[in-house]
Amino acid sequence: MSIQANLQRVKKQLPSSVTLVAVSKTKPNEAILEAYESGHRIFGENKVQELTAKAEALPKDIEWHLIGHLQRNKVKYIAPFVTMIHAVDSIRLAKEINKRAEQNNRVIQCLIQIHIAEEDTKFGFDFNEAKDFLASEELKELKNIEVKGVMGMATFTKNEEQVKREFTTLKSFYDSQQEITQNIENCQFDTLSMGMSGDYLIAIEAGSTMVRVGSAIFGSRN
Ligand SMILES: *Cc1c(COP(=O)(O)O)cnc(C)c1O
Repeated sequence: MSIQANLQRVKKQLPSSVTLVAVSKTKPNEAILEAYESGHRIFGENKVQELTAKAEALPKDIEWHLIGHLQRNKVKYIAPFVTMIHAVDSIRLAKEINKRAEQNNRVIQCLIQIHIAEEDTKFGFDFNEAKDFLASEELKELKNIEVKGVMGMATFTKNEEQVKREFTTLKSFYDSQQEITQNIENCQFDTLSMGMSGDYLIAIEAGSTMVRVGSAIFGSRN
């Protein structure tokens, strides 16, 4: 199947309220252009160096999303152009993104990464930490970021009940923060980023508004 055919197939499965981020990491510019030529504009990458090289070479109306873990010392390279950063996992990172966005006269959209999988990982807030972060006075000061919602990754497992449970838990948290964030100027909660190639249909059922799909569009990665 061609990239364009894969893209159409995935898009047909998504309700119009769900945004598709085509995850192009490790794939060449030609692959991205193929999707671009069929009208797609939102692409996701997980490495800063790869993202900046692609953004430089490819059409300027592409909306780039950084979906992976981001080190603070690399924020400056993507701040001039990145649309959304999906994996904000500390107040220090949020502050750095805010600082670099301000230097570029921009507002950068951010999602709070929450650790929902049973697997051990270093990255992401737990629910209590995320709640504290969203309620903090420090966050309110960051005028050059806009917190659009939350992002999570389910456990990598064939157990669909478990995946569904994890996504449903994240959706509940997202809903629970709607009211609290309503009066915070730089919070605009409308994005629940969950679902990848193997689990995006489950994620949508659980209430996802943004899926990050790579291999189902571009083929498997090495
Ligand atoms: C690679 C990646 C994806 C896409 O993975 P696929 O299984 O290829 O769809 C989504 N989200 C994040 C954070 C990723 O790193």
